[in-house]
Amino acid sequence: MKTAKTTTSEPTPGSVEGLIIDGSCGIYLVETPAGILSCTIRGKLRKELEYPESASGRKGAKNIKVKEHDPVTVGDRVRALPIGGGAGVIEAVVARATGAFQRGDPDYGGTTSVAGIEQLVIVFAARDPEPHLRMLDRFIVVAESQAMALVICLNKIDLGISLWLTGRLDVYSRLGYPVIPASAATGQGVAELRARVTGRTSALVGPSGVGKSSLLNALEPGLGLRVSEVSGALHKGRHTTTGTRMIPLAAGGYLADTAGIRQLALLELPVGLDTCFREFRPLLDGCRLNDCSHLHEPGCAIRTALQSGALDRDRYESYARLRDPSFLKLDAGEDSDWE
Ligand code: GDP
Ligand code: ZN
Repeated sequence: MKTAKTTTSEPTPGSVEGLIIDGSCGIYLVETPAGILSCTIRGKLRKELEYPESASGRKGAKNIKVKEHDPVTVGDRVRALPIGGGAGVIEAVVARATGAFQRGDPDYGGTTSVAGIEQLVIVFAARDPEPHLRMLDRFIVVAESQAMALVICLNKIDLGISLWLTGRLDVYSRLGYPVIPASAATGQGVAELRARVTGRTSALVGPSGVGKSSLLNALEPGLGLRVSEVSGALHKGRHTTTGTRMIPLAAGGYLADTAGIRQLALLELPVGLDTCFREFRPLLDGCRLNDCSHLHEPGCAIRTALQSGALDRDRYESYARLRDPSFLKLDAGEDSDWE
């Protein structure tokens, strides 16, 4: 994850604050009160952010090598100076929110990232396609490890819901995760979903065919198309799938384009995987070993609770699969767990 600091120098007169909603590779769209600016990054900022120590002047310019990757990312709040014709220059990072995704890019060998995601909305269908919930636990770990809010949306509720699925979703409700039964077809749950996404920055994830685009269109006409199309003007003639965009919502808030996010879950294990399973937290102090993996150690409070039925077995199994690196390697970045 990038560790850019925010800059403290006086803003240039005429500069405006805004949110990076799109872009990569040196050109970014910044949404400002004065409209959307197509911005480059001021060289000085690039150096400050990539090499903070060189900004002090103690290191000679010859030591400064501008890195290939930009020090800003979609989701950052920045200060930009309009230079006319809808263009601008990013001069400073104002705030960098948590909730960042990053991954190695197989084509570029670089990274794609988006910051500032406050909430993950995970969409499943009651059926067609049948829901498989292993990926849900993985996304919950992503959310918990970065203190993002999480909403589970069960679409296609008009097709009926099995007893098994009702039982599984109860487990998540009892853990405190909001579960919204919805139907893009009948409109059920759409108002609740809208209330959840309004005024914040969310990313919508889920297997294909569950009705994400349909739900978005129910939220706001045309929204599904805007989120799913990846070839905006900025991306023409370039690699189109690496950029992540922030789509403004009519009622306030943003949706992050899912193209860059779908496969980002858990390429790296967070430190403290066990704490990302919130039902484990009250038990962790009870393990005999400080560094208990909860897989095989004696005196493990998690396994004791599991055996007594106090913990959900499927959730524990998700934990164990993630904890075992060979399992993680097998799954990493694949869509397979969705299907
Ligand atoms: P996405 O791939 O997740 O964006 O899914 P789409 O929005 O493209 O929807 C996939 C299919 O499911 C389409 O044929 C939709 O008409 C259908 N669909 C979406 N939402 C619902 C729903 O609430 N109920 C039913 N019965 N079908 C739905
Ligand atoms: Zn343990």
